[in-house]
Amino acid sequence: MNVVLNNIGKKYEGREAFTLKNINLEIDDKDFCVILGPSGCGKTTLLRMIAGLNSITEGDLLFDNKRMNKVPSKDRDIAMVFQSYALYPHMTVYDNMAFSLSMRKERKNIIHDRVMEAAELLQIKEYLYSKPSDISGGQRQRVALGRAMVRKPSVFLMDEPLSNLDAKLREHMRVELVRLHKALGTTSIYVTHDQTEAMTMATKIVLMNDGKIQQAGKPDEFYNRPANIFVAKFIGSPTMNIIDGQMVKGKFVANHGLITITPSKQDAKSLEAFEGKPVSVGIRPERFESGGEFGDTFSATIEVVEMLGKEKILYAKLENGSEIIISTPGHYKYAVDEEHNFGFDVEAIHFFDTETGLRIN
Ligand code: ATP
Repeated sequence: MNVVLNNIGKKYEGREAFTLKNINLEIDDKDFCVILGPSGCGKTTLLRMIAGLNSITEGDLLFDNKRMNKVPSKDRDIAMVFQSYALYPHMTVYDNMAFSLSMRKERKNIIHDRVMEAAELLQIKEYLYSKPSDISGGQRQRVALGRAMVRKPSVFLMDEPLSNLDAKLREHMRVELVRLHKALGTTSIYVTHDQTEAMTMATKIVLMNDGKIQQAGKPDEFYNRPANIFVAKFIGSPTMNIIDGQMVKGKFVANHGLITITPSKQDAKSLEAFEGKPVSVGIRPERFESGGEFGDTFSATIEVVEMLGKEKILYAKLENGSEIIISTPGHYKYAVDEEHNFGFDVEAIHFFDTETGLRIN
C-alpha cells in the first residue's frame, strides 16, 4: 500500500504554533521509510496521525489514493510497534501474539497458523508458552513485532522499537528487521532519532527538524548530497566539518587564509553567483587526504587521537585555533602534538550558502 501526505499540518489544542506544517511526502508500496530527526521535531506526532491516534489539523492523508483523515484507527489496516513493548504480563507469549486476532473473533486454526508462522520467522517458537517477564528484552521486542505481524497489516508503523535494547542487540535487530521486511514486503514507517538506524534500514529517509521536512530520499543521497547544513551535520559520524569562509576570486578562503580550496570546474560554475559572499564548506572527516602532497593542503596540530580499531579519529587544530575532525584508517600512525599536512578530496566537498544554509553545488 502506498501512503501519501498532502500538505499535512498539526496544531495541538492549547498550543499557539503548528507542531507540523506543510508536510508533503510519498511513501511507495513496500518502502521502508524512516522518519528521522532530533527530539521534539514532530516524528511521533506524524506517525500517530498516520495511525489515526492524532487528529489531522490540515491537509490530506491518503492510503492507496483513499482519503483516511476521518477513518478510525482500527479501520486503517495498520499495526503499530512501540518503544515500550506493552505486552500483557499475565499472558503467555502465544496469547499476547494471538490477542488481537481473538478480539476480532478470528477462527482458532487461523490464529494458530498465523502465530506459528510469525514465531517461526522471528525465531521465538521455544518461548511461546513463557510469560514476558521470563524472556529477555530482545525476545520481548520480537514478540511485540510478532503481535503486529499476525494481523497481516497493509502498513507497519514503528516508533523507536529498538531504543530499549543494548547496542549489540540493536545492531542484530536492525539486520533482522531488514530481513523481515524483505520477507514480508509490507510498507513500513519507522520513527527514530538514530541516524545509523536510518542509514542502514531505510529505502527512504525523511529527515525532519522543527516540524518541517529537511530532505527526503535514499540514504546515499543524504550522505553524498545533503540539501542543507542541518542535514549535512545530522547524517554521518563523526559529524561533517563545516568551515565558514568566503569566495575570493573563484577560490574558497577561510580561517584568515589558512584554508584555501580551488573548486572543481563544475562547482566553480555553481559558485559564480557567490563571489565575495560568505560560503560554508562541508567536508566529511573520512574525506581528507592524509599526507596531502597535491592540490590544496593545510597544516594542523593533532590534539586528541581516538583509536576505534578500524579507524583513528583525529581532533586537530589550525594555527588560529579552529578545530578540524579527521578520520583515518586505524593502522596509520599519528601522535598527539604533531603537526601534519592534510589535503581535500575535491570530489567530496559540499558548498553551502552560509546565510540560508542551503546546498550550492
Ligand atoms: P521524541 O524523539 O523526543 O519523541 P518527536 O520528534 O517524536 O520527539 P513529538 O513527540 O512529535 O516529537 O513532539 C513534537 C512537539 O509536539 C513537541 O514540542 C511536543 O511537546 C508537542 N506535543 C506532543 N504531543 C503533544 C500533545 N498531546 N499536546 C500538546 N503538545 C504536544
